[in-house]
Amino acid sequence: MSAIDDLPPLRDVIREHALSARKSLGQNFLLDLNLTARIARAAGPLEDSTVIEIGPGPGGLTRALLALGARRVIAVERDARALPPLQAIAARYPGRLEIVCGDALTFDPLPLLGGGRAKIVANLPYNIATPLLIGWLSIEPWPPWFDMLVLMFQREVAERIVAHENDEAYGRLAVLANWRAETKILFDISPAAFVPPPKVTSSVVRLVPRAAPEPCDRRVLEQVAAAAFGQRRKMLRQSLKSLGPDPARLAAAAQVDATRRAETVPVSGFVAMARELADIRAAKQP
Ligand code: SAM
Repeated sequence: MSAIDDLPPLRDVIREHALSARKSLGQNFLLDLNLTARIARAAGPLEDSTVIEIGPGPGGLTRALLALGARRVIAVERDARALPPLQAIAARYPGRLEIVCGDALTFDPLPLLGGGRAKIVANLPYNIATPLLIGWLSIEPWPPWFDMLVLMFQREVAERIVAHENDEAYGRLAVLANWRAETKILFDISPAAFVPPPKVTSSVVRLVPRAAPEPCDRRVLEQVAAAAFGQRRKMLRQSLKSLGPDPARLAAAAQVDATRRAETVPVSGFVAMARELADIRAAKQP
């Protein structure tokens, strides 16, 4: 692939702005514009899209999103050293890049979206990747304001997101993610593609929100999953005790035997147990 734009190579940008990577900010920069374009393409046609990018850093993925036609990119970066290179990209694509200098964990996109929809595309800082994802998956009401998430994680976290029952990586994160979204690992990226190289392989994951997940109270679902996976080697009849009601009743609602372990119960089983628990609690209300 030839150059995606006429801006300087990312290595020059990093040198010029003395953007030495900081571990505390989870900075592993992706300098190969072919790879950043591959991530941007995974978000589907961008022409009519607003894209929220978390942690643009020197702007490799930002440039790919804009070069591939994203109508508007809102880039949220905590490191003020990255602002000058991002401003140069904004000047190259007038009116299409908005830079927000702040913490993605507290960033509220709704005022900027003004009722519109968005895709979130990011090479996430590893130290806050899971809390960010849980925040997006916990949005109420559901379906949320985003149409798609295309996110890079450490491979081990990606496996915990897409896992299903009986997979080694299956746990609380997979229950929440697969209840509310269709999840898929799209491809891996080797450590050698980053500066500095991380210790592990990374994976790009796509999550598409389900329009109508099986109805249940998210907080109750999370309580059931937390209890069950908190003692994942124990049988449900033991691990669910802390929730109050007879575990056998919850397991029966999910049509599973109480001697089974959490890791064998599909997401639909957790939803059924959460609904039963919510019903039992509601019946107890005066
Ligand atoms: N997108 C760039 C790339 O692909 O080369 C950089 C990705 S790097 C893995 C993560 C980026 O997130 C860094 O630029 C870092 O400064 C930024 N970052 C870290 N913590 C952040 C936070 N709480 N809010 C916003 N950005 C953050």
